Amino acid sequence: MRYDVVIIGGGPAGLSAAIYAARGGLKTAVFERAFIGGQITVTEDVENYPGFEESLSGFELTGKMHAQAERFGAEFFDEEITALHLEGACKTVETSEDNKYEAKVIILCTGAHPRSLGVPGEEEFTGRGVSYCATCDGALYRDKVVAMVGGGDSAVQEAIFLTRFASKVYIIHRRDELRAQKIIQDRALSNPKIEMVWDSVVHEIQGEAAVQKLKVFNRKTEEVSYLDVDGVFIYVGILPNNELMGPEIKLDEAGFVITDENMQTSVPGVYAAGDIRNTVLRQVVTAASDGAIAAWCAEKWLIENFDDSSCDKE
Ligand code: NAP
Repeated sequence: MRYDVVIIGGGPAGLSAAIYAARGGLKTAVFERAFIGGQITVTEDVENYPGFEESLSGFELTGKMHAQAERFGAEFFDEEITALHLEGACKTVETSEDNKYEAKVIILCTGAHPRSLGVPGEEEFTGRGVSYCATCDGALYRDKVVAMVGGGDSAVQEAIFLTRFASKVYIIHRRDELRAQKIIQDRALSNPKIEMVWDSVVHEIQGEAAVQKLKVFNRKTEEVSYLDVDGVFIYVGILPNNELMGPEIKLDEAGFVITDENMQTSVPGVYAAGDIRNTVLRQVVTAASDGAIAAWCAEKWLIENFDDSSCDKE
């Protein structure tokens, strides 16, 4: 099967690219290995996506984008792309279902995933007190004590969300200043259920059947202390989902895809959009913008540079 545009990843960037490509009349396929919507589906309140006066969940927002893309004719596949072949004029992708699809253009919207702490007990207690998703697991901690590790927007915003359930939420941050936006910081710092643990890192997660204690190291005083908690949420940033990208796709030092302002990667006809891209801001609105630019530029590139008969010649 041949598509004008194959979009890899069904988060906000991929969905926006699908809306623009399909609405532009391009035969468009979107491949998503997990669930449509990407990382934002685990965010309870999206407050800063324009057009929604009341906040809505990431699940609802991306559900609307998905329906919109389908309305314009984008086709969705729940298959994982396992290999990319970018050498010819007509590119090929292979999938987990042993299918091959041809693509005149590929848009990489593979996103990112949560960074882990890499401390003893983290892997062992994942699902038994260690969580990377407050929206999914927060309700399990009604009237319990939990800790949040991290000081960015995600950590602080999700710590505030956890106060709906937990009796107390510690935010453990490795510095004495939060990275999160001021408006989010202010809400957390004035929340009576939140206690800051500054200049500190978790050295070990301990427990028997489930998490019971965190061994915490203060980087300034070099003191070790123990916090009794029922759960710990880890929000210490994201890592790029770049395992598909071969050496022909240029990455930055952190492994994010380098593009120009048209979202074009180092390979002509291959674009990247959203969290996988080397960018200063990773938000739903910027992912949607990236996706729109990528699809629009891809359409232009197809008209100006692509010889339709080249796929049949190969
Ligand atoms: P982030 O901004 O990269 O923050 C990661 C946090 O984890 C930082 O506070 C960092 O500390 C800390 N950290 C990193 N590695 C650590 C380690 N090994 N041990 C302990 N702490 C560690 O990541 P994010 O909060 O996931 O946000 C990702 C992107 O999404 C950002 O661009 C953010 O603005 C955006 N976002 C926006 C919103 C919103 O606008 N509402 C909501 C969520 C996310 P340092 O500060 O010391 O580096």
